[in-house]
Amino acid sequence: MKTETIAIHAGNTTDHTTGAVIQPITMSTTFERMEDENYREGYVYSRSANPNRKALENVLTALEGGIDAAAFSSGNAAGMAVFQSLTPGTHIIAPDDMYHGLRNQLKQLFAGILEFDFIDIDDADVLKAHIKPNTGLIWIETPSNPLLKITDIKKIVAVAKQYDVKVVCDNTFATPICQQPLRLGADLVMHSTTKYFGGHSDLMGGALITADKSEWWQKIRQVQEMGGAIPSPMDCYYLVRSIKTLPYRVKGHMQNAQLLAEFLNTHPAVDQVLYPGLASHPNHDIAKDQMTGFGGVLSFCVQGDRDDAHRVINKLKLFTKATSLGGVESLIEHRATIEGPDTKTPFNLLRVSVGLEHIDDLIADLQQALES
Ligand SMILES: *Cc1c(COP(=O)(O)O)cnc(C)c1O
Repeated sequence: MKTETIAIHAGNTTDHTTGAVIQPITMSTTFERMEDENYREGYVYSRSANPNRKALENVLTALEGGIDAAAFSSGNAAGMAVFQSLTPGTHIIAPDDMYHGLRNQLKQLFAGILEFDFIDIDDADVLKAHIKPNTGLIWIETPSNPLLKITDIKKIVAVAKQYDVKVVCDNTFATPICQQPLRLGADLVMHSTTKYFGGHSDLMGGALITADKSEWWQKIRQVQEMGGAIPSPMDCYYLVRSIKTLPYRVKGHMQNAQLLAEFLNTHPAVDQVLYPGLASHPNHDIAKDQMTGFGGVLSFCVQGDRDDAHRVINKLKLFTKATSLGGVESLIEHRATIEGPDTKTPFNLLRVSVGLEHIDDLIADLQQALES
């Protein structure tokens, strides 16, 4: 089945007792035993499994082309489950521009438990030079945040296989509508479902999707169940509901992002536009090869410095000045400010989560802000 069909059907079951077309929300924390001590549908206690979480995990699995998925209460909780599933002392290689929340998690919560190096992962020689006997995991994120760098997934997987190392891909920016890392050889996909899956900036969630039910995956399931960082039945319901429109929303986000990138790219007050859909992007060819679309986030550098970036951002009327991405409304952010003192992000860079407003209105707003 095609993505649009999977998105609508893989997470929904008609309720056979009432005939409700949409699966009800099961708030119950506990489930009744039958006379023979077994459970009707295998549900025992909602931390271990819940029908709405199961529905969400089913649709996530199908969308990424995996064989199982685990849903979490946030993207960071999903990342945490990966790191907690590793044997202490395991060495992780991650990109030097890894999502700052997960980079800080590793540095502040896993120092002394795991080893890690943040490197220029796109340079195969640098990558190979950092692989050690205890390296267990290569973490990638493509397109990256906020520089929209593209990592060649197949190239990383080839190196990882050579050294028997697992690959996890943070697919939050691309969504499975634009990129399916498991089909390119990654072992695990990670998502912040807070972003495009939720799509309306009103819920937090995270997910891991696996290519096989390895021992490692069983361990991750244990972290989910015993650690307990699970999403509520309500949040699972909202996610399943939002995912039904994910393919069409992402198409709209991408279309607007492409047009906005092209507008900014020709504007004299703009120094540089970072969007993988532009032919001028240094890895446009890799992006074209491994993606079916280029996503809805772009960054641009205004002519000048931090003050010029702030002047532009404060003149905007339609774009809300806020962090996060993937919602229907356009957001803009001075990224260096949120990333803090050790940021590598240029001070004149603004990141845009392009929303689903009409493109003419978005362009008009940016135009007046850049020109006034
Ligand atoms: C937001 C985000 C995360 C973290 O997810 P939360 O839901 O905020 O915990 C991880 N990776 C990327 C790329 C993100 O954008």
